[in-house]
Amino acid sequence: MRIVLVGPPGAGKGTQAAYLAKNLSIPHISTGDLFRANISQGTDLGKRARAFMDAGQLVPDEVTIGMAKDRMAQPDAVGGFLLDGFPRNVGQAEALDGMLRDEGVALDAVLDLEVPEDEVVKRIAGRRICRNDSAHVFHVTYNPPKTEGVCDVCGGELYQRDDDSEETVRTRLEVYHTQTEPIIDYYRTQGLVVTISALGKVTEVTDRAMEALEKSEG
Ligand code: AMP
Repeated sequence: MRIVLVGPPGAGKGTQAAYLAKNLSIPHISTGDLFRANISQGTDLGKRARAFMDAGQLVPDEVTIGMAKDRMAQPDAVGGFLLDGFPRNVGQAEALDGMLRDEGVALDAVLDLEVPEDEVVKRIAGRRICRNDSAHVFHVTYNPPKTEGVCDVCGGELYQRDDDSEETVRTRLEVYHTQTEPIIDYYRTQGLVVTISALGKVTEVTDRAMEALEKSEG
């Protein structure tokens, strides 16, 4: 399957993507994770992306689209993928359509995770992520690790993302509304959008998502 996951920052896209990709046996492709890996490796791409990320703005399309395309061209993504955080504007959605068309394939569904705005800010401000694996996500109040600062899953160090400060979260939300939300209408005209609530336990949301994806297949 070829799936795009959309939703505001803090909707739990990364967490859900990891579970869904595993259930569906397709790779989880997160442009945010690819940027963060480039930053920690000190690459030129990482250097270009960093200031935009820290400000909560989108990294320019000429950097992002090429990076996403390279990742989607890897052998593990030939049969399908779950895109998390790409596309994030209509230009990227059009570029993705072009890439898929060139390969003679198409998206199967766009899964839209819905979550109220006040919940988003609460979720992100307390979010702590494992340095070893961004799918290991905790929350200081809602899902605290057994030992503060230590990942329950692998013992890795937990940290707060630089762009998870309250001020940057507000910018990211605004960017989401103005630039990313229009892709939902774009995909709606293609009949691809499946909207589910992202509230509740992680496993409940995964079950809801799997059910919605199965139904969307007809
Ligand atoms: P995420 O991990 O998906 O929340 O992404 C973190 C940050 O990476 C975003 O706030 C953007 O600065 C940047 N980013 C990730 N994906 C994209 C994209 N598709 N287009 C532009 N910027 C992106």
